[in-house]
Amino acid sequence: MFKFLNKVAAYGRDALQAARYIGQGLSVTFDHMQRRPVTIQYPYEKLIPSERFRGRIHFEFDKCIACEVCVRVCPINLPVVDWEYNKEIKKKELKHYSIDFGVCIFCGNCVEYCPTNCLSMTEEYELSTYDRHELNYDSQALGRLPLNVTQDPMVQPIRGLAYLPKGVMDGHEVPHTERRAGLRPEEILEQAQN
Ligand code: SF4
Ligand code: SF4
Repeated sequence: MFKFLNKVAAYGRDALQAARYIGQGLSVTFDHMQRRPVTIQYPYEKLIPSERFRGRIHFEFDKCIACEVCVRVCPINLPVVDWEYNKEIKKKELKHYSIDFGVCIFCGNCVEYCPTNCLSMTEEYELSTYDRHELNYDSQALGRLPLNVTQDPMVQPIRGLAYLPKGVMDGHEVPHTERRAGLRPEEILEQAQN
């Protein structure tokens, strides 16, 4: 009899525990029902990358002094800087510059350390090709100005979900002047300094 009662008590405890777990699971589900949808219908909708997004690198040939700092700070020595020494002007002359985006990890070191700021990271992230060798961008390809998502006629861009005004679920019609729910990086910095 005592054994039977023990079993019933254990069963009751297990049932209670199971009910608690189900309650915890459902609370997460209900919590998500209050949140904004985070999926977008790519490629017909696109998120605007954040201010510090590290996309395809842009290169300005005329500004480059062929110092090779970008090669030295790159974790994989990726940029190829092809130059010749011009004896007349006693300066290096840049012949060719390339970065292979099939290998690049978009760490941004080269951009950070370039002394002439001829490298910059764009918001371009659509780099897929059928042949990986096409990802080896030469100076012409690197010098192409990036496509701006907000000016892409093929898509209907929506604003970054994290930056939508409070209470707004769909960003398509939100004017850009409207106050965002999140803070801009400069506002966060200002808050931290005060
Ligand atoms: S660090 Fe800048 S200036 Fe120097 S070689 Fe690289 S891209 Fe050119
Ligand atoms: S982003 Fe990083 S990995 Fe890519 S070329 Fe620059 S330093 Fe190298």
